[in-house]
Amino acid sequence: MHADIVAVGGGIIGLATALHLAKDGKKVIVLEKDFVGRHASGVNAGGVRSLKRDIKEVPLIQGALDYWYRMPELVGSDCGFFKIGYMIAAETDADMKELEERAAKTRSMGYTHETIIDRSRVRELAPPIAGHCVGGIMSDHDGNASPAETCRAFHATCLDHGVTVHMGCRVLDIDTTSRGFKVTTTTAGVIEAEQVLNCAGAWAADVGKMLGDPLPVVPVGPSVMVTAPMPRLFHRHLTATRRKLWLNQVKNGTMFMMGGYLAEVDPATGKTHLRFSELQKCAGTAHGLVDQLENIPIVRAWAGLDGNTPDDVPIICYSKKVPGLMHACGFSKHGFGLAPMVGKVVADTMQGKTPEIPMTDFDIDRATLE
Ligand SMILES: Cc1cc2nc3c(=O)[nH]c(=O)nc-3n(C[C@H](O)[C@H](O)[C@H](O)COP(=O)(O)OP(=O)(O)OC[C@H]3O[C@@H](n4cnc5c(N)ncnc54)[C@H](O)[C@@H]3O)c2cc1C
Repeated sequence: MHADIVAVGGGIIGLATALHLAKDGKKVIVLEKDFVGRHASGVNAGGVRSLKRDIKEVPLIQGALDYWYRMPELVGSDCGFFKIGYMIAAETDADMKELEERAAKTRSMGYTHETIIDRSRVRELAPPIAGHCVGGIMSDHDGNASPAETCRAFHATCLDHGVTVHMGCRVLDIDTTSRGFKVTTTTAGVIEAEQVLNCAGAWAADVGKMLGDPLPVVPVGPSVMVTAPMPRLFHRHLTATRRKLWLNQVKNGTMFMMGGYLAEVDPATGKTHLRFSELQKCAGTAHGLVDQLENIPIVRAWAGLDGNTPDDVPIICYSKKVPGLMHACGFSKHGFGLAPMVGKVVADTMQGKTPEIPMTDFDIDRATLE
């Protein structure tokens, strides 16, 4: 079997890239050891957020948002995407000053997606929020999508465009050859390819290791708790400056509560084990900001595996050691929203085109990864 490009990983990054490549006529094979969307891409909270992103990621999320609003054109489904802005409340005057400085910085760079708001606007957008909040920062254009619907739609559209997706197919080893790569798998035999895309999420470092290219990506297990449905409490997804928290109330009224509270992970089996102590911290942090959450039943909690980098910014670049090996990994708990645009820039780069957004900030040689 032969392909122009083999993608190792059938998460949203692999599927989005495969789709853009296939649309350009490339022969792509996606290899997924479990099933499409089994890991981070299918079990995340669906947040598509530009507010308070690392500045390096702002052009990527803005490009991604354009895709999210036009998703039916790309994959024939809206992927459950709906518009809901985000808000970060300041609990002290010092925090407010920090938010103002952040907004001034983003404005000075030409970005206009973050707006400073006063105390009364904070209360309009989130009436039950703690009374001591003095103001905040918000975005309008962000949103939320359904991870399961998104993975389903990208998978189906990939197949429509001739992408081969092998599920239950683990990549065991990858060797370089004179014409590219030889990829050895559990169920699809040996596949030859000119290029390999490492989009293996929490396992990206293992894939790098197969080719002698170490990557600073470690598996982490962010967890989420979900409440029973309730009347709309907030008109923005929200948090407060010093709280490790996001409260995302979705369309059906349930609220996702999270903030990087980590479960134990077992990458060998792909399993996660929730830590009650972490869930308790998350609930306490939420309750401290919104008193009214005290009596809301929590109906579900889960965690998923994602790959984290030391600076929480993804690695999107060609390997410096192995020609033809492209990395798109280390999405550090916030890669779902970025995926449609990441797929486009990676697909362009792998075809020798200049991507619409320069990828230099995501290079593996950046100082913040050391
Ligand atoms: C609980 C949770 C909540 C989150 N909330 C948000 C959010 O609200 N907004 C947001 O933007 N992001 C969020 N994220 C992060 C986001 O889900 C991830 O950053 C993103 O989905 C990463 O996509 P991926 O395709 O790189 O990884 P994955 O979806 O993990 O895909 C990688 C795939 O590679 C496969 N693989 C690995 N090794 C091999 C191998 N050797 N052979 C074959 N296949 C292999 C794996 O089985 C896996 O399916 C959240 C993550 C979690 C876990």
